[in-house]
Amino acid sequence: MSTSISTATSTRTRKASGSTTPEDSAARRVDETGADLACPGCDLLVNVAGLHDGESAACPRCGHTLTRYRADASSRTLAFTVAALILLVIANSFSFLSFSAGGLENQMTLGQTPGTLFEYGMPSAAFIVGAFIIFIPAGVLVMMVGLCIPLLQQRYYPWLRTLAKGIFLAQNWAMVEVFIIGVIVALVKIAAMATVYLGVSFWAYVAFAICFTLAVASLDRYQCWQQIEALESMQ
Ligand SMILES: [Zn+2]
Repeated sequence: MSTSISTATSTRTRKASGSTTPEDSAARRVDETGADLACPGCDLLVNVAGLHDGESAACPRCGHTLTRYRADASSRTLAFTVAALILLVIANSFSFLSFSAGGLENQMTLGQTPGTLFEYGMPSAAFIVGAFIIFIPAGVLVMMVGLCIPLLQQRYYPWLRTLAKGIFLAQNWAMVEVFIIGVIVALVKIAAMATVYLGVSFWAYVAFAICFTLAVASLDRYQCWQQIEALESMQ
C-alpha cells in the first residue's frame, strides 16, 4: 500500500496539491525539515512547512486541522496556564455552592466533592473525581509552565521531551469541562427542591475551565515538537 504526501491547505494562500510516488514520499520523510505530518483523521502525509504567523494547515483530503503556527504560542500558552493555576487556587479556597431548604443550610467547597464521595463509601469514585477535576488538571498546568519557560528562553534540557509527552498524555484525562456540565445539570434538578447559591469558587472554576481549555488549545502539538527538536539540534 503506497503512501502519499500532499501540501496542506492553509488559511492564507496555500492549496492542496497532487500526490507523489512512494519513493518521493520516503525521500521526503527523511527530509531534515521534518515538515511532513500524518493526518490523524485519514493518515495522509501532509507537508506543513513554511507556515507564517497566524496560518493554519488543514488536510487536503478530509479537512482536519493539522497545526497552527503562532510566533507567540509559548507566551500565550504560559499566560493562560498561569491564569488557570491562580483560578484553580481560588476555586479551592472559597465556597463552591450552598443550599437552603426548610430552614436548613448547607455549604460545600470544591475539595469536599471527592471527600463527600469517600464518606459515602465510594473511595474509587472519590479518587476518580478528585483526579479528573483537580489533580490531573493541576499537574498538566504545572508541567506546561515547566515546558513553556524553557521554550521561551530558548534553553534545551534533556527532560523536555519527557515533559511534553507527559502533558499530551495527561491532558486527555483532565475533564474540567465535563465536571462543569455535570454541575449545571445537577443544579437544574436541585433548584426544584432547594434554593441554590453559587459561591466564588464556582465562578472561579468556570473561569479556570475556560483558561485551561485555552491553554491546552494554545499548545500546538506539532509546533511544540518542532521547537524542542530545534533546541535539541542546537546542542
Ligand atoms: Zn486527513
